[in-house]
Amino acid sequence: MNGYVLPPSPVASVAVRGIADRFPVRRILCVGRNYPAHAREMGQDPEREAPFFFSKPADAVIDGGVDVPYPSMTHDFHHEIELVVAIARGGADIAADRALEHVYGYGVGVDLTRRDLQTAAKNKGRPWDFAKGFDRSAPIGAIVPAAGIGHPGKGRIQLTVNGQLRQQGDIADMLWSVPEVIAEASRYIALAPGDLIFTGTPAGVAPLLPGDVVVGSVEGVGEVRFRVVGAPSPATA
Ligand code: MN
Repeated sequence: MNGYVLPPSPVASVAVRGIADRFPVRRILCVGRNYPAHAREMGQDPEREAPFFFSKPADAVIDGGVDVPYPSMTHDFHHEIELVVAIARGGADIAADRALEHVYGYGVGVDLTRRDLQTAAKNKGRPWDFAKGFDRSAPIGAIVPAAGIGHPGKGRIQLTVNGQLRQQGDIADMLWSVPEVIAEASRYIALAPGDLIFTGTPAGVAPLLPGDVVVGSVEGVGEVRFRVVGAPSPATA
């Protein structure tokens, strides 16, 4: 057993485009309200306050193409299309003008959200963990190394459900850019190789239902697609 009383969990990972080796996931950080139009639809002023973060467990990741079961304990299961940054080199107090040196590459992810639980948590001042960090809550398409595509600063980001456009924006509209997000996160925690950062979602978040086919993309990066399966949890009193 090599010193553990139980078999250690497998390393969570995401596919890398074009090669068999996978990106090992250490931690998933997510930025809240990073596009002005989404901040407004969530009832907030899109002021340029310092970005705030929440997290998902590493093993919430799944590859694009894997079915997503409709999660338990919600009746308002939402999509949030996001550019994902994959960190190759760690560090604390990273300067924004050096931040891109820490990036391995980029992916397209969906920050799946139990919106009803999130709203209840907000109203009670409680943590968002079970609204955001549930099983299979982070589908991500294959990560593309920055060595191949550079560091995208603009490009269309969109999400369709059953072929109908639900979310659209441009990653240039982010209130906090990728270098700024990396710098700010690293003021609070030391980043490390394998960290993923979801950089926030444009406007148009909306509910998903079993049978829905979701396709998200970021111009110049790639796409993610999955199908929602199963059935909503039974109504609760
Ligand atoms: Mn999000």
